Amino acid sequence: MKYEVVIGLEIHAELSTQSKVFCGCSTAFGAEPNTNVCPVCLGMPGALPVLNKKAVEYIVRAGLALNCEIANYSKMDRKNYFYPDLPKAYQISQFDLPFCKGGYLNIQADGKEHTVGITRIHLEEDAGKLVHTPGGTLVDYNRSSMPLIEIVSEPDMRSAKQAVEYAKAIRNILLFAKVSNCKMQEGALRFDANVSVRPFGSKSYGTRTEIKNLSSFKMLQKAIDYEYQRQVSMIEKGEKIRQQTLRWNESSNRIIALRSKEDAHDYRYFPDPDLLPVILSDAFIEDVRSKMPQMPEEKKKMYIEQFQLSEYDAEVLTANSELCAFYEEVLQDYNEPKIAANWVNVELMALLNQSDMLVEELPFAACDMAQLLQNIQSGKISGKMGKGVLADMFETGKSPEEIISAKGLSQISDTAELEKIADEVLANNPASVADYRAGKEKAIGFLVGQVMKATKGAANPQSVNEILRTKLNE
Ligand code: ADP
Ligand code: MG
Ligand code: ZN
Repeated sequence: MKYEVVIGLEIHAELSTQSKVFCGCSTAFGAEPNTNVCPVCLGMPGALPVLNKKAVEYIVRAGLALNCEIANYSKMDRKNYFYPDLPKAYQISQFDLPFCKGGYLNIQADGKEHTVGITRIHLEEDAGKLVHTPGGTLVDYNRSSMPLIEIVSEPDMRSAKQAVEYAKAIRNILLFAKVSNCKMQEGALRFDANVSVRPFGSKSYGTRTEIKNLSSFKMLQKAIDYEYQRQVSMIEKGEKIRQQTLRWNESSNRIIALRSKEDAHDYRYFPDPDLLPVILSDAFIEDVRSKMPQMPEEKKKMYIEQFQLSEYDAEVLTANSELCAFYEEVLQDYNEPKIAANWVNVELMALLNQSDMLVEELPFAACDMAQLLQNIQSGKISGKMGKGVLADMFETGKSPEEIISAKGLSQISDTAELEKIADEVLANNPASVADYRAGKEKAIGFLVGQVMKATKGAANPQSVNEILRTKLNE
């Protein structure tokens, strides 16, 4: 029998507020262990939490960006469990009345558009971090009470590829909405994958397992593939899938069972008596909406309508918030949207892909790229030379001006010299000259090519063309 995979994701994103969600401690990453702490985030008895207004604004923004309904009335609840990284022995989270519900996100995967439902987005605090050393386990509470949102999807994905595309699209939206820096290497974006299988055509879902804390797209993909195979082979052996919480082990590339899955009632959720319910007026929600940064869909539309970019170029740029920001920065100094899009999407992307680098890792700034394009526009260097200069910028981080002058690049714009070369070319190619004069327009292409060759590509083809035409029409 053939089995279909069914996937729902829970995505945790750290909000980029300055301070933690219930106290004034800094959220800066990488501080000395246990220095960004206070009685509230250390869970001292009697210390009282105060909800961070900015965190509420950010979760509302995330909810609007993901087409959710924003609740006018919500509350914070205690989720009770014991673990050394959780000093209060409860996590403040949201149970039945989260800030955002009922959204969706459209994604492209497997050559089609899919809609993934978003069940809810709730606000919660992070736990501390256990650091395992040969001498024992240490605990760092700097992360304790960091603001998190959890975005819970419907079980709407049907392949690991779709799950990865969904996760990437969520990251992109959160970056555009400026609510999280989404740095996966710092744990600011983490995925839990819920996976089940069922025979193709079946209407009901199979029993799911949940793989916790996947911290990269690659891990997400591998863990889902592995879990799908594991469940299928169990079913084929006649075994039953148990509802379980699992962990992906990156070094052995396999899944480890953590515990049998708990149910909501195991956590004894109850409203946190230290925090008031949160009432959001329509005016507050509208205010957040009116201050929303431009989202990718909107930008895409603008690029197509105002900049006349192709659908494809607009899609590539807006699917990557860093690339998009870079592109717009280039435009500040070089206002030719179509030409700039072409250089960013084709030439720059090729260099990045070849060396498996991210836009954020570029050794030069957007204004350098703009300067390069200006040099091409003005005819100082040719487009072909420009590609070489860009490759050098990529390699060395030097400015285009530096590279152009160090290499003695620059098109021959000295007309006297070009005229001389043109005369020689015309004298040496009487057949083409005759063809052109007999009305064969195309013959000029060959002659231009000969001049370009004689100058080793250093002439501006347009000027060459003009000079030749003038001479031929004399
Ligand atoms: P829990 O806290 O128990 O993990 P949540 O409601 O927070 O429960 O999350 C459940 C997640 O599991 C959702 O993302 C949902 O889409 C997904 N899910 C539910 N049933 C299935 C299933 N049969 N197969 C795959 N995913 C599922
Ligand atoms: Mg879960
Ligand atoms: Zn604190």
